[in-house]
Formats: sequence, C-alpha cells, structure tokens
Amino acid sequence: MPKTLILNHIVKQSFDINFLLITFSASEFRILLFIKMEYQDRYAQEPKYDCLLFDLDDTLYPLSSGLAKEVLKNIHDYMVEKLGIERSKIDTLSNLLYKNYGTTMAGLRAIGYDLDYDEYHSFVHGRLPYDNLKPDPILRSLLLSLPIRKVIFTNADRVHAAKVLNKLGLEDCFEGIICFETLNPTHKNAISDDEYDIEFVGSTQPRINTANTTRGFKMFDIIDHFAKHNDATTLPKTPIVCKPSENAIEKALKIAKLNAERTIFFDDSVRNIQAGKRVGLHTVLVGTSQRPKGADYALESIHNIREALPELWEADLRAEVDYSGKIARETSVTA
Ligand SMILES: [Mg+2]
Repeated sequence: MPKTLILNHIVKQSFDINFLLITFSASEFRILLFIKMEYQDRYAQEPKYDCLLFDLDDTLYPLSSGLAKEVLKNIHDYMVEKLGIERSKIDTLSNLLYKNYGTTMAGLRAIGYDLDYDEYHSFVHGRLPYDNLKPDPILRSLLLSLPIRKVIFTNADRVHAAKVLNKLGLEDCFEGIICFETLNPTHKNAISDDEYDIEFVGSTQPRINTANTTRGFKMFDIIDHFAKHNDATTLPKTPIVCKPSENAIEKALKIAKLNAERTIFFDDSVRNIQAGKRVGLHTVLVGTSQRPKGADYALESIHNIREALPELWEADLRAEVDYSGKIARETSVTA
C-alpha cells in the first residue's frame, strides 16, 4: 500500500501498530505520531455550528445603500396617507412603536390599527431604490464556500427578501428564508394567545383616519401613555411575531429545525443580537467593530466573516487533511 494512503488512514482512524513499525522507519514513525496528535487536537472535535442564520437588510448589504432611509420615509408616509395620522405626531409615534414592538407595523397593530399586511409591505418596499444594490461576488463566494447550512431570518416580507437577494446575486446561496409571512402565516385577524392581547379591529373595518374609535373600541394612545407613565409593562400586546421578540426567534429556530447552541446569528441590530443571545444563539453584530454586550463577535462588514470566524470553514478542512500540518491562517478576531 502506498505510504500516502497509509498516512491518510492514520490521521483519520486507528491503524495496526505492528504494521506501521514494519512499513515505516523509526524517524518516519515519530513523524506519523506527531501528525496524528496534531490531527486529533485540531480536527477531532465536532464542528461547533450547524447553521448560519442571517438577517437580510443592512446585514448582507451596507447601510450606505440608502434603502433603510427610504423604508423609514415610506413608513411615515403610510401612517399619514393610509392611516390618517397627523404628520406632526409621526416621528414620536413611530419611534415609540419601533422601540416597544420591534417594528412600526407590529406597534400599529398593537395600538389598534387595522392593516392590510400586503398593502403595507408593498407601500413600504415597493418604491425602494433596489438598483442601489449591486451583485456582491465576494460575499457570494464566501457563502458558497461555507460548508454549513445557511438560512435568512428577516422581519421583511417575502417579495422584498427575494428582490434584495436577487439584486445582490445571492438568491441561490441560502437553504431558505424565514420572513414576515413565515412567522405570521394567518395574516389578518391573527390573534396571539397572549391573555393581554388588545382587542383586534376586524379586517372588514374601514381604516382609521380621523376618529380614534371604531366599533366602540378605543385606540390606545401610546404617546399619552408614555407622557404620563413611562411604563412599557402595561402596553397592549401585538399579534405580530417579529424580531426582537424571543418568541419570534424561537419560532424561527423551530421552523428551520435549528438548535440555538449550534447556530450562529448575524444581524445589524443590537437588540436583535441581544435577544438572540438570550435564546442561546451564538451572535455576530454586523456593521460595526464595536462589540456590545450580548454579541460574541462584531464585524464592520459581512465581508470580514472569514477573518473573524475562520473556524466556520474548518468542517471543510476536516475533509481534506493537510499532511504538512498547516491549517487556514488563524486571524485574531477583531472584536
Ligand atoms: Mg437588519
């Protein structure tokens, strides 16, 4: 048997010691033992991760694309044009809703606004400057070279996610997309089982525009609430499931059949990352090198993934043992 073949067996599994002593000289045998020990130290452990879970917007492309700014503008316009909310209240209201409910849409539902989800998404995302997003062959190559499952987890709707991935040239890099429709499959009238749910105004009702009541149901005045109480614990609950609620993250893990402890989660939102950490995920904040509490790593750009996390590629290396004992260059993590 050629010595190279024997070597391959030795580093990957046990081998009869008498056979080795006959086949190899004493000095060769010492080298073999050294290689075997190196292999066991570096490769014998189980891969740490089964899956990479990626947020989409401002994570797989930079904030500088300008899409986030346009999304915010469109949300504000929707609140004025479709819901009849006074323009002067929009900044305060949308900030409170976003802060307390994860997304403005989830907050609008909580305080009593009826929304046609598809209409909302098409209004907010339909006019975005998608052409600002360019194909990203560097990221594509990094993702395709990763020998681990990859899943998208976004609060946005399916149409938006598909457009973004298409523009970035990444549409075939992921096993699946967990999006708004995945976590909120019943659309309208989806009532969560939370006992504190506010009564939901049925979808057949006209949009709220001037009056703050419908069917005798009083809209919850969140601006007034915080002006008087500054207390988030008594807020009405939303039926919408979205990040950063731990429930949303747990549902996403269940749908994708993921074990939190063996999944690494990338997101540009600190609060999403912190919620992910509470659920047990490994976490990577993207968009800054400043690592906040709750983030295991922080990457200025998703392009830095290989420098910061070379171990993600090690599953590949295990399959191709390098007899020289060299492995991928280990770069110190930047945060
Ligand atoms: Mg994001």
